[in-house]
Amino acid sequence: MNRRWPGVLGAIGATVLILTINIGGCGGAHLLSRNDEIRMGREAAADFEAKNGGQSRDARLVGLTRTIGQRMTRVATAAPYYAYPYDFRTLDNRQVNANAFPGGIIYMWRGLFEAVKYDEAQLAWVAGHEATHVARRHATQRIERQLGYSLIIQLALGKGDVAQIAGAVSGLTLQAYGRDQELEADRLGAQFTRQAGYDPTAALAVLETFKKIQGKEPSDLEIFFASHPGNSTREDHLKAYFREQGWSGQYFKP
Ligand SMILES: [Zn+2]
Repeated sequence: MNRRWPGVLGAIGATVLILTINIGGCGGAHLLSRNDEIRMGREAAADFEAKNGGQSRDARLVGLTRTIGQRMTRVATAAPYYAYPYDFRTLDNRQVNANAFPGGIIYMWRGLFEAVKYDEAQLAWVAGHEATHVARRHATQRIERQLGYSLIIQLALGKGDVAQIAGAVSGLTLQAYGRDQELEADRLGAQFTRQAGYDPTAALAVLETFKKIQGKEPSDLEIFFASHPGNSTREDHLKAYFREQGWSGQYFKP
């Protein structure tokens, strides 16, 4: 065995300890760099996409996703947010869902388009919600906490088993975010929606639709809906936010 290893591992351990303290203390340091996030997200998305239906080739869905994606990217990459290379994709999967990977890949699932009857503003809010998870590093923070330092170190050193890391991250992006992260994604998602030129109150129409579907077909909704606070809580939260901002629209008039 190489005799330098104990020293190297000790140095890595000390680095991790410092980074951990920084994350816990002031939030100033990131264990994963932006490039790590982007690379890890791409690998994980490829793994996820292959297992969940692949990308849709339906021209209507692809066109809507492209239009919304371009407008959302413009606002989500403006200061003070980091200019991640956003990539909005349409997943050929009948479940009503959407999800985001660290670094900017976002999937809008086919079932979602059908559920909101192809309404562009409603789809835009879902896209904005997912973009918030990227912009605010929600998924990355969870991965940093849960994935384990050894894998992160391997990744940082470029020695990681990519398949292993991608598989783990792919699974993590479908797990629950924290309640506060979800509510933040709802609010900032609405702000992005408004800045992108859509009616942010469309968020309330989406949540109403979720409520109805949830009553009828719970099996279709297990992933997206299990990972969020209750829809009524989210509606109340958004209405309070709209009031505070002085916003009104088709679905909310204070
Ligand atoms: Zn979310």
